[in-house]
Amino acid sequence: MKVILLDRDGTAIVDPPDLRVDKLDKIELFPDSIEGLKYLADNDFAVILITNQAGIEEGRLTEEEFWQIHKEVLRQLEPSGVKFLKTYMNGEKKRPDNTDWRKPGPKMLLQAAEEFGLDLSQVYMVGDAQTDIQAAINAGCKGGILVETATGEEVVSPDAVYSAPTLLDAAKYIVAYS
Ligand SMILES: [Mg+2]
Repeated sequence: MKVILLDRDGTAIVDPPDLRVDKLDKIELFPDSIEGLKYLADNDFAVILITNQAGIEEGRLTEEEFWQIHKEVLRQLEPSGVKFLKTYMNGEKKRPDNTDWRKPGPKMLLQAAEEFGLDLSQVYMVGDAQTDIQAAINAGCKGGILVETATGEEVVSPDAVYSAPTLLDAAKYIVAYS
């Protein structure tokens, strides 16, 4: 089984206009979220989610609320058939060295590598922000793939190994180049 590291908000699901998925009714999939993840599953890829949650730091949602909402996110993505191995979320307040944990810091990615025995030089990280791409570089990933699905201003990343219009395009690149 192969693995990718995947950002959640703005990548697997839509980032709401206020950029905070802090209510159940703010969960929205992209038109090709399921198809993109299914393409990965069909090609023997599993997914590890790596998500920054600034809303927790800001006190807009608790960690308990996050996990409750996240459970519903996973339920909605379930029809893709992809296996989500684990979700790493930067629980900001509990860690003394937050900046390493919060993307672009590499700690969540490095912890995933340790827990699942991954050789990150063979693993792509996919996200909609420069912080995702930089985290991939900082952790020594095979590369960061930008999906051009961020809410708000268009994101351009010269550091990305590939810029994909959608998650499905990113999935096709990953399968082709792994
Ligand atoms: Mg994002």
